[in-house]
Amino acid sequence: ENTANKIAAGEVVERPAAVIKELVENSIDAGSKNIEIEIIDGGIKFIRVTDDGNGMSREDAQLAVKRHATSKIRTAEDLAAINSLGFRGEALPSIAAVSNFTLTTRLLDEPMASYVEIQGGIFADVREAGAGCGTTITVSDLFFNTPARRKFLKTPSAESGHISDIVTKLSMSHPQIAFKLISNQRMVLSTRGSGRLTDAIADIYGHKVTPELLPVEYSNEGIEVSGYVAKPALLKSSRQWQTFMVNQRVVNSRMMAKALDNAYFSLLPKNGYPLAVLDIHISVESIDVNVHPQKKEVKFSDDQKIYRAVYKAISSSLAAPGS
Ligand code: ADP
Ligand code: MG
Repeated sequence: ENTANKIAAGEVVERPAAVIKELVENSIDAGSKNIEIEIIDGGIKFIRVTDDGNGMSREDAQLAVKRHATSKIRTAEDLAAINSLGFRGEALPSIAAVSNFTLTTRLLDEPMASYVEIQGGIFADVREAGAGCGTTITVSDLFFNTPARRKFLKTPSAESGHISDIVTKLSMSHPQIAFKLISNQRMVLSTRGSGRLTDAIADIYGHKVTPELLPVEYSNEGIEVSGYVAKPALLKSSRQWQTFMVNQRVVNSRMMAKALDNAYFSLLPKNGYPLAVLDIHISVESIDVNVHPQKKEVKFSDDQKIYRAVYKAISSSLAAPGS
Protein backbone atom coordinates (compact mmCIF):
# COMPACT_ATOMS: atom_id res chain seq x y z
CA GLU A 1 0.00 0.00 0.00
CA ASN A 2 2.87 2.38 0.72
CA THR A 3 4.22 1.79 -2.81
CA ALA A 4 0.79 2.45 -4.32
CA ASN A 5 0.58 5.67 -2.33
CA LYS A 6 3.99 6.76 -3.53
CA ILE A 7 2.95 6.07 -7.13
CA ALA A 8 -0.31 8.00 -6.69
CA ALA A 9 1.72 10.81 -5.13
CA GLY A 10 3.54 11.16 -8.44
CA GLU A 11 0.25 12.05 -10.11
CA VAL A 12 -1.52 13.96 -7.37
CA VAL A 13 1.33 15.93 -5.81
CA GLU A 14 3.78 17.16 -8.39
CA ARG A 15 4.79 20.23 -6.37
CA PRO A 16 4.01 22.11 -3.14
CA ALA A 17 1.22 24.10 -4.81
CA ALA A 18 -0.56 20.82 -5.62
CA VAL A 19 -0.35 19.78 -1.95
CA ILE A 20 -1.86 23.10 -0.93
CA LYS A 21 -4.63 22.82 -3.49
CA GLU A 22 -5.64 19.41 -2.11
CA LEU A 23 -5.48 20.52 1.53
CA VAL A 24 -7.41 23.74 0.92
CA GLU A 25 -10.07 21.92 -1.12
CA ASN A 26 -10.53 19.58 1.85
CA SER A 27 -10.88 22.59 4.16
CA ILE A 28 -13.50 24.08 1.81
CA ASP A 29 -15.38 20.76 1.69
CA ALA A 30 -15.34 20.73 5.51
CA GLY A 31 -17.38 23.95 5.62
CA SER A 32 -14.62 26.20 6.93
CA LYS A 33 -15.11 29.95 7.38
CA ASN A 34 -11.39 30.66 7.87
CA ILE A 35 -8.47 28.96 6.15
CA GLU A 36 -4.90 29.89 6.94
CA ILE A 37 -1.98 28.64 4.87
CA GLU A 38 1.57 29.01 6.05
CA ILE A 39 4.64 28.06 4.00
CA ILE A 40 8.38 28.16 4.47
CA ASP A 41 10.72 28.14 1.46
CA GLY A 42 7.99 27.81 -1.12
CA GLY A 43 6.41 24.92 0.78
CA ILE A 44 9.43 22.69 0.17
CA LYS A 45 10.51 22.91 3.80
CA PHE A 46 7.13 23.36 5.48
CA ILE A 47 3.41 23.70 4.77
CA ARG A 48 0.65 24.21 7.32
CA VAL A 49 -3.04 24.51 6.53
CA THR A 50 -5.37 25.35 9.41
CA ASP A 51 -9.14 25.46 9.13
CA ASP A 52 -12.16 25.91 11.36
CA GLY A 53 -14.30 23.35 9.53
CA ASN A 54 -16.14 20.25 10.75
CA GLY A 55 -13.07 18.33 11.85
CA MET A 56 -12.85 14.54 12.17
CA SER A 57 -13.30 11.93 14.87
CA ARG A 58 -10.26 9.91 15.99
CA GLU A 59 -11.47 7.01 13.86
CA ASP A 60 -12.03 9.15 10.76
CA ALA A 61 -8.66 10.86 11.19
CA GLN A 62 -6.93 7.47 11.00
CA LEU A 63 -9.09 6.43 8.05
CA ALA A 64 -8.46 9.68 6.17
CA VAL A 65 -4.82 8.81 5.55
CA LYS A 66 -5.72 5.41 4.08
CA ARG A 67 -6.03 5.06 0.35
CA HIS A 68 -9.48 5.60 -1.22
CA ALA A 69 -11.01 6.32 2.16
CA THR A 70 -13.11 9.23 0.98
CA SER A 71 -16.07 10.19 3.15
CA LYS A 72 -17.56 12.16 0.27
CA ILE A 73 -18.90 9.53 -2.11
CA ARG A 74 -20.33 6.13 -1.37
CA THR A 75 -21.96 4.84 -4.53
CA ALA A 76 -21.52 4.93 -8.30
CA GLU A 77 -24.45 7.37 -8.45
CA ASP A 78 -22.59 9.70 -6.11
CA LEU A 79 -19.64 9.67 -8.53
CA ALA A 80 -21.96 10.76 -11.33
CA ALA A 81 -23.19 13.74 -9.31
CA ILE A 82 -20.24 15.09 -7.35
CA ASN A 83 -20.96 18.13 -5.22
CA SER A 84 -17.73 18.22 -3.21
CA LEU A 85 -14.32 19.32 -4.45
CA GLY A 86 -12.74 16.03 -3.34
CA PHE A 87 -13.96 12.54 -4.23
CA ARG A 88 -10.95 10.35 -5.02
CA GLY A 89 -9.72 9.76 -1.48
CA GLU A 90 -6.12 9.90 -2.70
CA ALA A 91 -4.76 13.23 -1.56
CA LEU A 92 -3.94 12.68 2.10
CA PRO A 93 -2.35 9.21 1.71
CA SER A 94 -0.39 10.44 -1.32
CA ILE A 95 0.94 13.50 0.51
CA ALA A 96 1.71 11.50 3.66
CA ALA A 97 3.67 8.97 1.57
CA VAL A 98 6.19 11.58 0.41
CA SER A 99 6.60 13.87 3.43
CA ASN A 100 6.60 14.09 7.19
CA PHE A 101 2.92 14.58 7.79
CA THR A 102 0.84 15.49 10.84
CA LEU A 103 -2.90 15.83 11.18
CA THR A 104 -4.57 17.44 14.21
CA THR A 105 -8.33 17.52 14.17
CA ARG A 106 -11.21 18.15 16.51
CA LEU A 107 -14.95 17.81 16.11
CA LEU A 108 -17.07 20.66 17.45
CA ASP A 109 -18.71 18.56 20.17
CA GLU A 110 -15.56 16.76 21.35
CA PRO A 111 -13.42 18.13 24.16
CA MET A 112 -10.11 16.88 22.74
CA ALA A 113 -8.44 16.71 19.35
CA SER A 114 -6.74 13.70 17.72
CA TYR A 115 -3.21 13.83 16.43
CA VAL A 116 -1.87 11.48 13.73
CA GLU A 117 1.72 11.50 12.50
CA ILE A 118 3.06 9.75 9.41
CA GLN A 119 6.66 9.78 8.23
CA GLY A 120 7.19 8.93 4.58
CA GLY A 121 4.04 6.80 4.52
CA ILE A 122 4.92 4.99 7.72
CA PHE A 123 2.57 5.41 10.61
CA ALA A 124 4.49 7.06 13.48
CA ASP A 125 2.07 8.18 16.18
CA VAL A 126 -1.55 8.66 17.12
CA ARG A 127 -2.69 10.33 20.33
CA GLU A 128 -5.02 12.77 21.98
CA ALA A 129 -4.10 16.44 21.77
CA GLY A 130 -5.39 19.85 22.74
CA ALA A 131 -6.55 22.02 19.83
CA GLY A 132 -9.38 24.24 18.62
CA CYS A 133 -12.23 22.94 16.48
CA GLY A 134 -11.31 22.13 12.93
CA THR A 135 -8.24 20.67 11.31
CA THR A 136 -4.55 21.51 11.02
CA ILE A 137 -2.30 19.60 8.66
CA THR A 138 1.45 20.07 8.44
CA VAL A 139 3.66 18.76 5.65
CA SER A 140 7.42 18.98 6.19
CA ASP A 141 10.32 18.07 3.90
CA LEU A 142 8.19 17.26 0.87
CA PHE A 143 9.71 14.51 -1.34
CA PHE A 144 12.48 13.79 1.20
CA ASN A 145 12.14 10.08 0.33
CA THR A 146 11.67 10.52 -3.44
CA PRO A 147 14.87 12.30 -4.52
CA ALA A 148 14.00 12.08 -8.23
CA ARG A 149 10.88 14.17 -7.64
CA ARG A 150 12.67 16.53 -5.33
CA LYS A 151 15.09 17.35 -8.10
CA PHE A 152 12.24 18.63 -10.26
CA LEU A 153 11.28 21.30 -7.76
CA LYS A 154 12.07 24.85 -8.76
CA THR A 155 13.52 27.53 -6.49
CA PRO A 156 11.56 28.39 -3.33
CA SER A 157 10.50 31.69 -4.88
CA ALA A 158 9.22 29.97 -8.04
CA GLU A 159 7.32 27.42 -5.91
CA SER A 160 5.92 30.32 -3.82
CA GLY A 161 4.67 31.89 -7.02
CA HIS A 162 2.74 28.71 -7.91
CA ILE A 163 1.28 28.67 -4.40
CA SER A 164 0.15 32.32 -4.52
CA ASP A 165 -1.46 31.62 -7.85
CA ILE A 166 -3.54 28.67 -6.66
CA VAL A 167 -4.45 30.31 -3.33
CA THR A 168 -5.54 33.44 -5.22
CA LYS A 169 -7.84 31.37 -7.40
CA LEU A 170 -9.20 29.27 -4.54
CA SER A 171 -9.96 32.45 -2.53
CA MET A 172 -11.90 33.94 -5.39
CA SER A 173 -13.82 30.70 -5.90
CA HIS A 174 -15.12 30.95 -2.31
CA PRO A 175 -15.48 34.63 -1.35
CA GLN A 176 -17.46 33.67 1.79
CA ILE A 177 -14.29 32.12 3.26
CA ALA A 178 -11.54 34.32 4.74
CA PHE A 179 -8.15 33.13 3.43
CA LYS A 180 -4.67 34.01 4.66
CA LEU A 181 -1.40 33.06 3.03
CA ILE A 182 1.78 33.56 5.03
CA SER A 183 5.08 32.95 3.29
CA ASN A 184 8.33 32.95 5.31
CA GLN A 185 6.48 34.76 8.16
CA ARG A 186 5.14 37.43 5.82
CA MET A 187 1.43 37.84 5.02
CA VAL A 188 1.21 37.76 1.24
CA LEU A 189 -2.53 37.39 0.75
CA SER A 190 -5.59 37.91 2.87
CA THR A 191 -9.28 38.00 1.95
CA ARG A 192 -12.02 39.18 4.27
CA GLY A 193 -14.56 36.46 3.49
CA SER A 194 -17.51 38.84 3.10
CA GLY A 195 -19.18 36.63 0.49
CA ARG A 196 -18.88 39.32 -2.20
CA LEU A 197 -16.65 38.43 -5.13
CA THR A 198 -15.79 42.11 -5.70
CA ASP A 199 -14.35 42.24 -2.16
CA ALA A 200 -12.21 39.14 -2.78
CA ILE A 201 -10.97 40.60 -6.09
CA ALA A 202 -10.13 43.92 -4.37
CA ASP A 203 -8.40 42.13 -1.46
CA ILE A 204 -6.21 40.26 -3.91
CA TYR A 205 -5.60 42.62 -6.81
CA GLY A 206 -5.98 45.92 -4.96
CA HIS A 207 -8.85 48.41 -4.65
CA LYS A 208 -7.85 50.23 -7.82
CA VAL A 209 -9.25 47.41 -9.95
CA THR A 210 -12.79 47.74 -8.53
CA PRO A 211 -13.97 50.61 -10.80
CA GLU A 212 -12.55 48.72 -13.79
CA LEU A 213 -14.69 45.61 -13.30
CA LEU A 214 -17.65 44.79 -15.49
CA PRO A 215 -20.15 42.31 -14.07
CA VAL A 216 -20.76 39.16 -16.09
CA GLU A 217 -24.22 37.69 -15.72
CA TYR A 218 -25.69 35.42 -18.31
CA SER A 219 -28.04 32.50 -18.33
CA ASN A 220 -29.31 30.32 -21.15
CA GLU A 221 -30.03 26.64 -21.87
CA GLY A 222 -29.39 25.64 -18.26
CA ILE A 223 -25.95 27.29 -18.17
CA GLU A 224 -25.20 30.29 -15.99
CA VAL A 225 -22.06 32.34 -16.42
CA SER A 226 -21.20 34.80 -13.68
CA GLY A 227 -18.26 36.82 -12.41
CA TYR A 228 -16.31 39.87 -13.55
CA VAL A 229 -14.17 40.90 -16.46
CA ALA A 230 -12.01 44.02 -16.43
CA LYS A 231 -12.35 46.92 -18.85
CA PRO A 232 -9.79 47.15 -21.66
CA ALA A 233 -7.86 49.83 -19.72
CA LEU A 234 -6.61 47.07 -17.45
CA LEU A 235 -5.23 44.51 -19.93
CA LYS A 236 -2.53 42.26 -18.48
CA SER A 237 0.53 40.66 -20.01
CA SER A 238 -0.42 37.05 -19.23
CA ARG A 239 -3.30 34.76 -18.39
CA GLN A 240 -2.26 34.72 -14.74
CA TRP A 241 -5.05 37.20 -13.98
CA GLN A 242 -7.73 34.87 -15.31
CA THR A 243 -9.61 32.46 -13.09
CA PHE A 244 -12.00 29.91 -14.54
CA MET A 245 -14.39 27.87 -12.45
CA VAL A 246 -17.08 25.28 -13.00
CA ASN A 247 -19.58 25.09 -10.14
CA GLN A 248 -17.03 26.96 -7.96
CA ARG A 249 -14.30 24.45 -8.77
CA VAL A 250 -11.14 26.15 -10.10
CA VAL A 251 -10.26 24.56 -13.45
CA ASN A 252 -7.92 24.97 -16.39
CA SER A 253 -9.97 25.34 -19.52
CA ARG A 254 -8.51 26.34 -22.88
CA MET A 255 -12.00 26.39 -24.26
CA MET A 256 -13.22 28.95 -21.72
CA ALA A 257 -10.05 31.02 -22.25
CA LYS A 258 -10.61 30.94 -25.99
CA ALA A 259 -14.26 31.94 -25.70
CA LEU A 260 -13.22 34.84 -23.43
CA ASP A 261 -10.50 35.99 -25.86
CA ASN A 262 -12.65 35.69 -28.95
CA ALA A 263 -15.57 37.60 -27.42
CA TYR A 264 -13.40 40.23 -25.72
CA PHE A 265 -11.28 40.97 -28.76
CA SER A 266 -14.01 40.69 -31.39
CA LEU A 267 -14.07 44.50 -31.61
CA LEU A 268 -10.74 45.41 -30.00
CA PRO A 269 -7.16 44.83 -31.10
CA LYS A 270 -5.72 41.90 -29.16
CA ASN A 271 -2.79 43.22 -27.15
CA GLY A 272 -3.02 41.51 -23.79
CA TYR A 273 -5.21 39.45 -21.50
CA PRO A 274 -8.21 40.78 -19.61
CA LEU A 275 -8.36 40.20 -15.88
CA ALA A 276 -11.33 37.87 -15.47
CA VAL A 277 -13.00 35.73 -12.84
CA LEU A 278 -15.63 33.50 -14.43
CA ASP A 279 -17.75 30.76 -12.97
CA ILE A 280 -20.00 28.45 -14.95
CA HIS A 281 -22.96 26.98 -13.14
CA ILE A 282 -24.28 23.85 -14.74
CA SER A 283 -26.06 20.68 -13.62
CA VAL A 284 -23.62 18.08 -12.30
CA GLU A 285 -24.99 15.58 -14.83
CA SER A 286 -23.60 17.65 -17.74
CA ILE A 287 -20.01 17.51 -16.54
CA ASP A 288 -17.41 14.91 -15.61
CA VAL A 289 -14.91 16.10 -13.02
CA ASN A 290 -13.18 12.72 -12.74
CA VAL A 291 -10.91 13.07 -15.78
CA HIS A 292 -7.67 14.37 -14.25
CA PRO A 293 -5.74 13.09 -11.19
CA GLN A 294 -5.42 16.64 -9.84
CA LYS A 295 -9.01 17.46 -10.85
CA LYS A 296 -7.65 20.41 -12.84
CA GLU A 297 -9.90 19.77 -15.79
CA VAL A 298 -13.58 19.16 -16.33
CA LYS A 299 -15.18 17.43 -19.27
CA PHE A 300 -18.42 18.97 -20.53
CA SER A 301 -21.00 16.86 -22.30
CA ASP A 302 -21.41 19.71 -24.81
CA ASP A 303 -18.32 21.91 -25.31
CA GLN A 304 -19.96 24.05 -27.99
CA LYS A 305 -22.79 25.04 -25.69
CA ILE A 306 -20.34 26.17 -23.00
CA TYR A 307 -18.24 28.07 -25.54
CA ARG A 308 -21.33 29.91 -26.80
CA ALA A 309 -22.49 30.73 -23.27
CA VAL A 310 -19.10 32.21 -22.27
CA TYR A 311 -18.83 34.09 -25.56
CA LYS A 312 -22.29 35.61 -25.20
CA ALA A 313 -21.77 36.38 -21.52
CA ILE A 314 -18.61 38.38 -22.27
CA SER A 315 -20.08 40.11 -25.34
CA SER A 316 -23.11 41.28 -23.41
CA SER A 317 -21.10 42.54 -20.44
CA LEU A 318 -18.85 44.57 -22.79
CA ALA A 319 -21.90 45.93 -24.62
CA ALA A 320 -23.68 47.03 -21.42
CA PRO A 321 -23.93 50.79 -20.81
CA GLY A 322 -21.01 52.15 -18.79
CA SER A 323 -18.52 49.58 -20.07
P1 ADP B 1 -11.16 13.25 -0.70
O1 ADP B 1 -11.11 14.73 -0.48
O2 ADP B 1 -11.09 12.89 -2.14
O3 ADP B 1 -12.31 12.59 0.01
P2 ADP B 1 -8.65 13.19 0.75
O4 ADP B 1 -7.54 12.22 0.77
O5 ADP B 1 -8.37 14.58 0.29
O6 ADP B 1 -9.84 12.58 -0.09
O7 ADP B 1 -9.26 13.27 2.23
C1 ADP B 1 -9.71 12.06 2.83
C2 ADP B 1 -10.84 12.32 3.80
O8 ADP B 1 -10.33 13.01 4.94
C3 ADP B 1 -11.96 13.21 3.27
O9 ADP B 1 -12.93 12.45 2.57
C4 ADP B 1 -12.50 13.84 4.55
O10 ADP B 1 -13.43 12.97 5.14
C5 ADP B 1 -11.30 13.89 5.48
N1 ADP B 1 -10.69 15.23 5.54
C6 ADP B 1 -9.54 15.61 4.92
N2 ADP B 1 -9.24 16.90 5.20
C7 ADP B 1 -10.20 17.35 6.04
C8 ADP B 1 -10.45 18.61 6.71
N3 ADP B 1 -9.64 19.66 6.55
N4 ADP B 1 -11.54 18.68 7.52
C9 ADP B 1 -12.35 17.62 7.69
N5 ADP B 1 -12.18 16.43 7.09
C10 ADP B 1 -11.12 16.28 6.27
MG1 MG C 1 -9.51 15.93 -0.90
